[in-house]
Amino acid sequence: MNLILLGPPGSGKGTQASAIAKTYGIPELSTGAMLREAADAGSEMGLWAKQIMDRGELVSDEVVVNIFAERIKQSDCANGFILDGFPRTLEQAAFLDKLLKEQDNPLDLVLELKVDFNQLVERIVGRFTCATCGEGYHDRFKIPKVSCVCDVCQGMAFKRRADDNAETVRTRLMAYYRETAPLIGYYFCKECLRVVDGMEEIDLVAGHVQEILKDYTQDSKTPAH
Ligand code: ADP
Ligand code: ADP
Ligand code: ZN
Repeated sequence: MNLILLGPPGSGKGTQASAIAKTYGIPELSTGAMLREAADAGSEMGLWAKQIMDRGELVSDEVVVNIFAERIKQSDCANGFILDGFPRTLEQAAFLDKLLKEQDNPLDLVLELKVDFNQLVERIVGRFTCATCGEGYHDRFKIPKVSCVCDVCQGMAFKRRADDNAETVRTRLMAYYRETAPLIGYYFCKECLRVVDGMEEIDLVAGHVQEILKDYTQDSKTPAH
């Protein structure tokens, strides 16, 4: 199963992608996470990308497409993948189409998560992750069961992203509506778009996603056009 999670920053793509990855045993590919790893590793590209990310703008197609193309070649993607944050421009979508066509590996589904503006801002400014395993949390909506201890790995160090602040949010949302929202129409016309109400609680959204994915599991695979 190959699928894309599409939605503005804070809409729950990463949260839902992790849940799907766990259920179906397929990897979650986040270009944002790949770029942050490159920045943490201190590579020239990573440090350059970090400046752009911190401003809330999009990193160039060329750079993102290259890191994505390297990642998707790896063997764990052979049985499917979940894309979180890629593609983000029509150019990236065209690149992905070409790549999947060459591999004779069609896209099954694009899930669009819809969330209101105020809720996006609240989710972004309250987001934090476990520094050890990357599990996602939120100050209000998903707090660790034991205060300051990660539910998954029991780690006690957490981190927040430099771009998760109220000032950068507007730039990021503008970038989404300018560059990425046209992909909604692109995939609608390819008849592979399904819309999910992302305003509900995490588990309820996950339930809706599972319902939709039932139609796309191996036995009843419906190839996209
Ligand atoms: P994205 O990957 O789309 O930027 P995330 O999955 O990282 O979004 O979610 C953003 C923040 O909102 C995280 O702190 C996450 O715990 C929280 N969150 C995700 N989904 C929901 C939801 N349905 N309701 C409330 N909070 C949510
Ligand atoms: P969010 O889901 O909260 O927007 P991501 O982790 O997906 O966060 O992305 C963080 C930042 O990384 C983006 O604001 C952008 O600068 C950069 N980025 C990630 N994916 C892409 C992409 N496909 N194209 C261009 N820039 C990207
Ligand atoms: Zn952890």
